[in-house]
Amino acid sequence: MLSFVYQALPSRVIFGVGCLDRLPVEMERLGARKALVLSTPEQRQSGEEMVERLGGRAAGLFDRAAMHVPIETAQAAREEAQRLGADCCVAVGGGSTTGLAKAIALVSTLPILSVPTTYAGSEMTPIWGITEGGRKTTGRDPRVLPKTVLYDPCLTVTMPAMLSATSGMNSIAHCVEALYAQEANPIISLMAEEGMRAFAESLPVVVREPGNLEARSEALYAAWLGGMALGAVGMALHHKLCHTLGGSYNLPHAETHTVVLPHAAAYNAPATGEAMARVARALGTPSAAQGLYDLAASLGAPTSLAALGMKAVDLDQAADIAVQNPYYNPRPVTRDGIRALLQDAYEGRRP
Ligand code: NAD
Repeated sequence: MLSFVYQALPSRVIFGVGCLDRLPVEMERLGARKALVLSTPEQRQSGEEMVERLGGRAAGLFDRAAMHVPIETAQAAREEAQRLGADCCVAVGGGSTTGLAKAIALVSTLPILSVPTTYAGSEMTPIWGITEGGRKTTGRDPRVLPKTVLYDPCLTVTMPAMLSATSGMNSIAHCVEALYAQEANPIISLMAEEGMRAFAESLPVVVREPGNLEARSEALYAAWLGGMALGAVGMALHHKLCHTLGGSYNLPHAETHTVVLPHAAAYNAPATGEAMARVARALGTPSAAQGLYDLAASLGAPTSLAALGMKAVDLDQAADIAVQNPYYNPRPVTRDGIRALLQDAYEGRRP
């Protein structure tokens, strides 16, 4: 019998080719006049173009966003926002840049307008993360949820094929875990299944033809759904494991998700009822875990932790860390089970 709690999150989404033209109007809608534009050093040009586009509405550009939001960078960006008298942030980039905007919003009243350029999904979540002394702290706070998100597929055509593939798999991971989350509910499950379907259809085209706007548009739509899933329900084993591996062994975010996902799905499959059948249906394959592995492999994405630079000698310790703090998972998390999962992921074995 159905029983669930669903908490909708208040964000405004503008989607479509060329929708970036609406940015000034969207700023006005929030009552904002001076935007601090944020980017990574690699996307400085996109940041500069945004400043140019905003003209007098731009307070300046802060181009030092970095993976996992180092506290020093967060402090510097907060000071810059204050110094320039900014009254909103425009984050142009992936999860790292959105993360920096969230670090500013966490200690101020500055609203975020997010312009995502990857499929990570951070723009749809109230989850923030800051790294201090090598430890990443995360939390949920409604203040950091971007007020307005402008999804313009044009900004994603420059995303390299491999980042597109792994970023897409990262978003698929949000969808998979949403289906068996503790707070799983019918509306988010519909979105999760549709997100995976749209990715399975669009990612092969995106990787083959990065400039194909139609495929880029479908992939970005899928990423929106993945972000909704991540923001609305809690995650489980897969996300915890990737957090541990990323934080403790400095493994790249999207690639780690890509490698671990088929193995986490295989581990949880016996305990997730309908969920895995929905994943398989969305991917158009007989098995969820194998379908996820085959999709990543067909995109040319990495399939083993060894390929990401993880050392075999670290697997025991990684298993120890992964079972240290108990958390929700549909199947009980055992040390032996996780150690075996990590071995499979390390070797890149097809589940
Ligand atoms: P990223 O933001 O770190 O970007 C990776 C690199 O790709 C950067 O150099 C960036 O400038 C570049 N790039 C991004 N888009 C591009 C484009 N269209 N064209 C060319 N280059 C482009 O990568 P990510 O995977 O989007 O984000 C990862 C980070 O986000 C991690 O720190 C992760 O923990 C965080 N994250 C947070 C949430 C959340 O809800 N808080 C959700 C997902 C990810």
